[in-house]
Amino acid sequence: MTDKILLYYKFQPVADPDAVRLWQRDLCEGLGLTGRIIVSPHGINGTVGGDIRACKTYAKKTREYFHGMEFKWSEGSAADFPKLSVKAREEIVAFGAPDELRVDEHGVVGGGAYLTPQQVNELVAANPEAVLFDGRNAREAEIGRFKGAVVPDVETTHDFIAELDSGKYDWMKDKPVISYCTGGIRCEVLSSLMVNRGFKEVYQLDGGIVRYGEQFGNSGLWEGSLYVFDDRMHTEFGAPDDPDYVQLGHCVHCGAPTNQFYNCANEPACRRQYLSCEACREANPYCKECAER
Ligand SMILES: [Zn+2]
Ligand SMILES: [Zn+2]
Repeated sequence: MTDKILLYYKFQPVADPDAVRLWQRDLCEGLGLTGRIIVSPHGINGTVGGDIRACKTYAKKTREYFHGMEFKWSEGSAADFPKLSVKAREEIVAFGAPDELRVDEHGVVGGGAYLTPQQVNELVAANPEAVLFDGRNAREAEIGRFKGAVVPDVETTHDFIAELDSGKYDWMKDKPVISYCTGGIRCEVLSSLMVNRGFKEVYQLDGGIVRYGEQFGNSGLWEGSLYVFDDRMHTEFGAPDDPDYVQLGHCVHCGAPTNQFYNCANEPACRRQYLSCEACREANPYCKECAER
């Protein structure tokens, strides 16, 4: 039995998110798939894992409602997602702007123009004014980001609106801004919020860092590791000993280079994820704040 993981999202109007939630839950249960799925009036966002034939059936059935949805197939197993969680929420990505986001049958209305990885390279090479704008949480960028990227000071996606409204980024409103995130979903929303706030030339990296890495590995504008939301915590492009790979993260305790995040051992009181080298983790399994207390 071969297991696979499916990653996917689609922005399209969903008239009855709760009905879609129930249908998706039954579909996954019937196929023995586990994972996380969120349905909102704007669409669907999910990661499910399980037997490859079950995944194929799931993709086919789900496309009957979410027409033309692209599924990203990834190595992995249902064991990476011990449970099935299917929820109906106000947003498929929690920006805290459910009433601002507009979606029609073509997707998000008024978002940034899509750029392929190649087009990102070309735009950056042709225009020194172009700004790469990290659409993820600042923590994710600690271990990997595009060269010279602007990394907003956000702990969660929810912080973006206040951050954009703070005026800190007004200097880029007349410049070409290329937003990017892991797989592209966050920039679908973020780029539209930027357009709404007067950023005049907004782009988004189609397929996100994942697609960029598949195409250019460590040889392009990307530096470091990619933060991922499963037990691995990070992944790299290219071979483990790729000479082009740059380790950007540092252990919070001793400063040694590392790309490994850990959950603070003081959980659930502390929910921080922090960077640590292996030696410090063994000696002191706490984040800096908890270790100093
Ligand atoms: Zn250390
Ligand atoms: Zn802690």
